[in-house]
Amino acid sequence: MTDKAARTALKPVDEALAHILSGATPLPPERVALEAAHGRVLAADLPALCTQPPFDASAMDGYAVRAEDIAPGTRLRRIGEAAAGRAFAGTLGSGEAVRIFTGAPVPPGADAILIQENTRPAGEGLIEATEPVATGRHIRRAGQDFRAGETGLVAGTRLDFRALSLAAAMNHAALAVVRRPKVAILSTGDELVPPGGAPGPDQIVASNHVGLAALVESHGGEALQLGIAPDDIDAIEARISAAIAGGADIIVTLGGASVGDHDLVAPALKAAGISLDFWKIAMRPGKPVMFGRYGETRILGLPGNPVSSLVTGVVLLAPLVRALAGRSEPTVIAHGRLDAPIKANDQRRDYLRARIRRDDTGAAWLSPLPLQDSAMLSAFTHADALLIREIFAPAAEPGESCLYIPL
Ligand code: AMP
Ligand code: MG
Repeated sequence: MTDKAARTALKPVDEALAHILSGATPLPPERVALEAAHGRVLAADLPALCTQPPFDASAMDGYAVRAEDIAPGTRLRRIGEAAAGRAFAGTLGSGEAVRIFTGAPVPPGADAILIQENTRPAGEGLIEATEPVATGRHIRRAGQDFRAGETGLVAGTRLDFRALSLAAAMNHAALAVVRRPKVAILSTGDELVPPGGAPGPDQIVASNHVGLAALVESHGGEALQLGIAPDDIDAIEARISAAIAGGADIIVTLGGASVGDHDLVAPALKAAGISLDFWKIAMRPGKPVMFGRYGETRILGLPGNPVSSLVTGVVLLAPLVRALAGRSEPTVIAHGRLDAPIKANDQRRDYLRARIRRDDTGAAWLSPLPLQDSAMLSAFTHADALLIREIFAPAAEPGESCLYIPL
């Protein structure tokens, strides 16, 4: 390949992604209060600090008894009561019962819980069993859930509502979690005004930074807005350098990535001392993409067209955010079937905006939206999926299987 051919060759999406992800490992841990840990990733194995249950506990309301005493018609002397948080102080002997409630410690001497439905009153201080009971019945053994010192949650666990409850039950008030990557987002373009602004006759409202920030947050990052830079090398460079100095883990630039006279992101990044790879990616939507590093900061230059920036965000940025956030899961790719015919594809992998229809079995049937313009946010917003069409995929008929990224 000639130099020029190499420079203009389309880079396969997976190769670009592999390059972006190389060396992207979870950021160092920080300690956060349990209440702030929802959705975060555990940085180290978490041992139980206590045993649960700490004692043999009743699982039902009834009577603590000795199983061998009990047959239908047996009368027992009621000698006391045990409730949750209030143990019975004595020891249970033959022919005796202790009234007990769920969560109460089982008194010494008892080996089963006779549920209250299987008893009836039998005069002052007496009850009668109406059913037998097996040894150990309705008793939760000490340590049945977990024991002190055991690993209850492993490093890398995403702290969902269940994991958080378990961490709390194991007596942790704060947890070591992977630091969230700080993702600084810079919009570029003389034509842009912020949402709620007053666009001049030749201006538009900037939108990409809003969607990308939401995407970043939902994949475990912390988004910071750097605002809108004019199409000016020095202005762009100054904001990039400030973001690097401010400790951004990722800087995302939007727009200015093509090769027009006003596409100044590449020269600005070079002026900031960032060594840059510049690719034309074999993907649609998605125009030239830039990637570079400066120390520990990664810089990703995404296209400005709204749909292109959001789709390259899903395909290239979200996996990087997850990798730094300690979330190892790859992009979800699901199987479906075509609900409409599709033309043969060319040399770029297509991410077609598509609707999903579910049949009675729950299977997904995909139809691409008629309008695939990379500037049409409204169509993208009404899509359910990105239908993936591999490079040079032949024409396909309804019923054929397909792959898609759910949105
Ligand atoms: P560019 O890559 O700068 O040539 O931008 C490509 C197209 O995307 C142009 O029509 C821009 O006006 C538009 N665009 C660039 N940045 C944004 C943005 N942050 N929000 C919405 N549209 C944008
Ligand atoms: Mg521009």
